Amino acid sequence: MSSSEGEAQLPNRSSEIRKDPVFGRWVVLSPARSRRPSDFKSKSANPNSNPNPSSCPFCIGRENECAPEIFRVPPLVSDWKIRVIENLYPALRRDVNPPDTGSDHAVGPCQVTGFGFHDVVIETPYHAVTMRDLEPEAVGEVLLVYVERVQQLKALGSVKYVQVFKNHGAAAGASMTHSHSQIVGIPVIPPSVTARLSCMKEIFDLTEKCSVCDLQSDQNLMINGSTHFFAMAPFAASYAFEIWIVPREHSTYFHELDCAKAMDLGGLLKLMLQKLAKQLNDPPFNFVIHTAPFDLSPSCVPYSHWFLQIVPHLGTTAGFELGTGCYINPVFPEDAAKVLREVDCKIGSKF
Ligand code: AMP
Ligand code: ZN
Ligand code: ZN
Repeated sequence: MSSSEGEAQLPNRSSEIRKDPVFGRWVVLSPARSRRPSDFKSKSANPNSNPNPSSCPFCIGRENECAPEIFRVPPLVSDWKIRVIENLYPALRRDVNPPDTGSDHAVGPCQVTGFGFHDVVIETPYHAVTMRDLEPEAVGEVLLVYVERVQQLKALGSVKYVQVFKNHGAAAGASMTHSHSQIVGIPVIPPSVTARLSCMKEIFDLTEKCSVCDLQSDQNLMINGSTHFFAMAPFAASYAFEIWIVPREHSTYFHELDCAKAMDLGGLLKLMLQKLAKQLNDPPFNFVIHTAPFDLSPSCVPYSHWFLQIVPHLGTTAGFELGTGCYINPVFPEDAAKVLREVDCKIGSKF
């Protein structure tokens, strides 16, 4: 008997084009023909299935095979829990001069030095442990490590934006199977950050509302909640089973997350990763933290609200997406939210 027998069909819906109120992007919701939730399971091999850590430099005891360490948690002990290290093959270099501060506003082609910081966060000493296997508090500690590193990069004054992200599985860009994430500090503000802030400004100017605070109003899109955060499927999700985890209270900067909120977020993030793995057969995924640039003007604070986006890789993007910047998503966010809400995992509270 197939594991999906007896499973509810997703409702029949006709195509819609929706605009996202945060990124300002259009998405084509084009329901696949009579699909069940299990039809979206990942077909790629379990990305962390390699049981043999014999050649993994991220494993405990092999620290000397890594690029230099920036800090570890706890500090100075050999049985560490988390390490932040320099990337051995950094996309940007910390040892060149930063560009002039005005280069962000350059008109037309512009070239600056490849200055920046590219760090790796090793989230666990053990090869076979994934982020969703960690205790909620241990996920919270990883989040606090991100916070600490972002604060360090802010203090340097030469970095304008920090991207925290995780690649899990080869199809999501991971080259290492040992659980890790990355932190990139760049001296310019990336275009998607500018586009996001200008979309949110446009809505704020019209409605006096923060479009991220406003996400809480649609209960059909909610998946789960915790004391300080809610997890939801975004109204105009670009990707099937995309999830956003959002601070309930208006909060501009990720790096202002305190310890209690990090622990709370750790539990909800773990729950979402467990649900995706259970429902979708441990799919490759990325998560990215969308926050504000360091030099944000105070007038932008009322509409800048950070959040964490999780994107499972279940399909491929191709020519249409490349040409238009619009994604085709075969799963309506309301259906994804319902399916994920109903996945039975031990931890976490119902919304
Ligand atoms: P990903 O490609 O997403 O799996 O990220 C892993 C990152 O680790 C890559 O950007 C690699 O450049 C980096 N990396 C690989 N080996 C080492 C090492 N021995 N020390 C530090 N960074 C490494
Ligand atoms: Zn390892
Ligand atoms: Zn807000």
